[in-house]
Amino acid sequence: MAGLWQCQGVTRPDAPPGPVRQGSLREWNLAVVLGRIAAADRPPSRAELAAATGLTRATVSAVVEDLLAGRLVREAEPTPRTGAGRPSRGLVLAADGPAGLGLEVNVDYLAACVVDLAGRVRHHTVHRADLRPVSPAEAVARLAGLAARARADAEREGLTLAGAALAVPGLVDDAGLVRLAPNLGWRDVPVPALLDGHPPLTAHVDGVPPLVVENEANLAALGELHAGPPGPVSFLHISGEVGIGAGIVLDGALFRGARGWSGEIGHIPVHPDGRPCRCGGRGCLETYAGQEAILAAAGLAGAHLPADTATTRLAELAAADDPAVSRALADAGNALGVAVAGVVNLLDLDTVVLGGGYAPLAPWLRPPVLAEVSRRVLTAAWSPVTVRPAALGGAAAAVGGAGSVVRRILARPAGWLARQP
Ligand SMILES: [Zn+2]
Repeated sequence: MAGLWQCQGVTRPDAPPGPVRQGSLREWNLAVVLGRIAAADRPPSRAELAAATGLTRATVSAVVEDLLAGRLVREAEPTPRTGAGRPSRGLVLAADGPAGLGLEVNVDYLAACVVDLAGRVRHHTVHRADLRPVSPAEAVARLAGLAARARADAEREGLTLAGAALAVPGLVDDAGLVRLAPNLGWRDVPVPALLDGHPPLTAHVDGVPPLVVENEANLAALGELHAGPPGPVSFLHISGEVGIGAGIVLDGALFRGARGWSGEIGHIPVHPDGRPCRCGGRGCLETYAGQEAILAAAGLAGAHLPADTATTRLAELAAADDPAVSRALADAGNALGVAVAGVVNLLDLDTVVLGGGYAPLAPWLRPPVLAEVSRRVLTAAWSPVTVRPAALGGAAAAVGGAGSVVRRILARPAGWLARQP
């Protein structure tokens, strides 16, 4: 079954469903009813679905039967009805139907997670290892092993992996080729081709690509977007790791840029003649506020701590008012604030989310970032900018990737149903 890992052309991880085709009324009805069930704050009955969608009760009943048979919804426990009549049976998203696989390769860890149709994380594994000395093929092989364990776990719980999204800390083109991941030392790495040599993990589902490869900061921003209440929110999500990437969400949608390469905030110069950067430039934000720069400034560069330990250690020392660590975080926050102020001035964003390794350091990074933003953003005096830690922290990219798969199924359930026996 070669080819299941194949990356599909210009497919985007969070692309909206296409226009309704002539003759696709059933498809449309399936999506409308499933969407109502997914958005409801309590399990709606068939009668309530008919009232909410304007469909006849007979149509809703037929659609619900299809959704039940395809393991997309299930009936909730009956709730007693006040007064006469049968108790109503509400409908909820199935916990044993299709699921999304989210994968991540980063500088010092690999991650795999499974998210079910309701957005619940059902499996999450992180494997810590410095991947810089490791070849891309070896890193991808280790990732495939992690993914196989995630699939086995998912199948034990009755879930079927319907597609995968892989987050990488670099620039990815439409074919899934990692053009450049400077902190991993990757250049022109064909990730889908490398995965094709491993056993397939996902089912064929119409409209769901087997694998999307995407920049990790973009997927992390999607994870954060869907962890919050729905709405046309706009924010900047910054993933602070060894490198620094940002995902830009405008009016509730990810802004990817003309070629999908937006968000390289780590390479915004904050001191134009400053320190040399791995990208070949000078004075990039990453060289002042990336994790290695913070550790060096704090006098911990030689400690060779794994990333999560390093972040925890920095937070512990900062909480104990260690002067070197406090100074290092204040300086990193100042540099970050300068770059963030530029982005906010340009895009008129009202919220900045500190994600990845920045989330646990937010109590110390937030004040200097806010100070720079207040000083440099023209509108800050009467329209303050919120700076807050991410809800999902370091898991955001893998969770966001897996979530992008299930949202495709919610948007077009007919594609999943067509593949059911
Ligand atoms: Zn740079």
